[in-house]
Amino acid sequence: MDNNIKENIDTIIYNINEAADKSGRKGSDITLVAVTKTIDVNTIKSAIDCGVTDVGENKAQEFTEKYEELNKYKEDLNFHFIGHLQTNKVKFIYNKVKLIHSVDSISVAAEINRLASNNNMIINILAQINIADEQSKFGINKKNAEEFVKNLSQFRNLALKGFMAIPPFVDSGEKNRYYFSAMYDLFVDINEKYSNIIDMDFLSMGMTNDYYTAIEEGSNIVRVGTGIFGDRI
Ligand SMILES: *Cc1c(COP(=O)(O)O)cnc(C)c1O
Repeated sequence: MDNNIKENIDTIIYNINEAADKSGRKGSDITLVAVTKTIDVNTIKSAIDCGVTDVGENKAQEFTEKYEELNKYKEDLNFHFIGHLQTNKVKFIYNKVKLIHSVDSISVAAEINRLASNNNMIINILAQINIADEQSKFGINKKNAEEFVKNLSQFRNLALKGFMAIPPFVDSGEKNRYYFSAMYDLFVDINEKYSNIIDMDFLSMGMTNDYYTAIEEGSNIVRVGTGIFGDRI
């Protein structure tokens, strides 16, 4: 077992507990998704041995390559899809994931719904919000979020569970506090306004450099890669 990984995970769990406590919640209310992109299966297995219960990948092909072996290694491992999803790749992942974080268009939602419907499934999704309006990022602009959520309610085989956001890459969480707080407000406002058609539980935000602040501001799913596995090569 890789000692670094164990230490890294212990530190992150300690921080998650502390940040949750500060925001009136418990550490157990927060899900840590270990982001395993570019990481080999054996190293991921070490992380699982250290207590990782949820893993996230951002590319359909890489997801598919690792899925069988990891699923065999730990039957109840939860898989998350966190990257931009092309419509023609949905078929490779939709029935293997606990949650798709990155639904960013009606066309991809329609394709997930079509496959889910054909197979009598309900798929859990998050809508990805481009909270800082960055050209370089996928996701729905904040001002269109309400309309998007209303549109998604037409899909009977999708369960909209919440929002995901990737604010700007920063070296300290403080710099993104404003965006995390704005995401939380959006999440609460839309959940309340549309309580007749939606019931969202999850706010997925916070990565290695800013997960602590994200949790303080209301996140309950954090996606951490570098903080667990070190720099990606
Ligand atoms: C890579 C990635 C992460 C993890 O980033 P780190 O800075 O390594 O923790 C989180 N979310 C998404 C969508 C990613 O692609």
